[in-house]
Amino acid sequence: MGWAIALHGGAGDIPKDLPPELREPREASLRYCLQIGVDAIKAQKSPLDVVELVVRELENNPYFNAGRGSVLTSNGTVEMEACIMDGNTKNCGAVSGLTAVVNAISLAKLVMEKTPHIYLAFEGAEAFAREQGVETTDSSHFITPRNIERLKQAKEANKVQVDYNTRPIPKDDKTPAPSGDSQLGTVGCVSVDSFGHLAAATSTGGLVNKMVGRIGDTPIIGAGTYANKLCAVSATGQGEAIIRATVARDVAALMEYKGLSLKEAADYVIEESAPRGTTGLIAVSATGEVTMPFNTTGMFRACATEDGHTELAIW
Ligand code: ASP
Repeated sequence: MGWAIALHGGAGDIPKDLPPELREPREASLRYCLQIGVDAIKAQKSPLDVVELVVRELENNPYFNAGRGSVLTSNGTVEMEACIMDGNTKNCGAVSGLTAVVNAISLAKLVMEKTPHIYLAFEGAEAFAREQGVETTDSSHFITPRNIERLKQAKEANKVQVDYNTRPIPKDDKTPAPSGDSQLGTVGCVSVDSFGHLAAATSTGGLVNKMVGRIGDTPIIGAGTYANKLCAVSATGQGEAIIRATVARDVAALMEYKGLSLKEAADYVIEESAPRGTTGLIAVSATGEVTMPFNTTGMFRACATEDGHTELAIW
């Protein structure tokens, strides 16, 4: 038994020759966010607060496809979604179709804490955000030249895609992205404290060039996000495949009904259930195990455990 934390910044076809100037800032962001999470755990924050805090940081970081870095729909708009779940109580909250909320994950937590419901979307979710006084911003905050360029490329290729395309992220959002390289992805965090309490959180802008109104796996309890008394899971990759495979819940179900360890359960889902090339996940168990398998080329990921193990990797 011991605390543990894992986070991801998206899974996909990440080229192995990603140049250092594109790899290093993302690794630095993961390292920074991991440290924030570890410090929060050591300061005795609850796992729910830890995963919210870490995901907020990742949402504020334009290197990832959530919050500030969210990708665009086919209409050039942004529709963010997020989900948070407390393993002990199975309380959970989810949001979709957000156009102006700075931190979707915090709105998901408010849905969980302040409403009789689990999932609010589109106008209703935004009205709730205004009522709760959460920070909102002009949509131009998200609809940057860089994101417009990504959408253009996806349209030209006639593709709806996980945002793994490769082009550099300019330092400021005024500069259109030159062709070259970038790696963006959905973000997530799972955490367990030394009492075995678990929580999971996931946040995303979805897929580049997605249809307006499309909802992916991220906010779907049991698909992109799940936590119970055994484990907490956050998935990333092609949402439609993840929903079909009920990825996050299947990990928990294999532990619950078949007595598999966290690693066995997660490996089974990634290797046998989710189609190859579609899915990655991070998971922690009540006993402090961590696993981060994926069947894509790579997944931006990092973890730390109480016994001193830390890891940060892409491939
Ligand atoms: N799973 C997300 C979605 O389909 C995308 C991602 O993980 O990058 O919306």
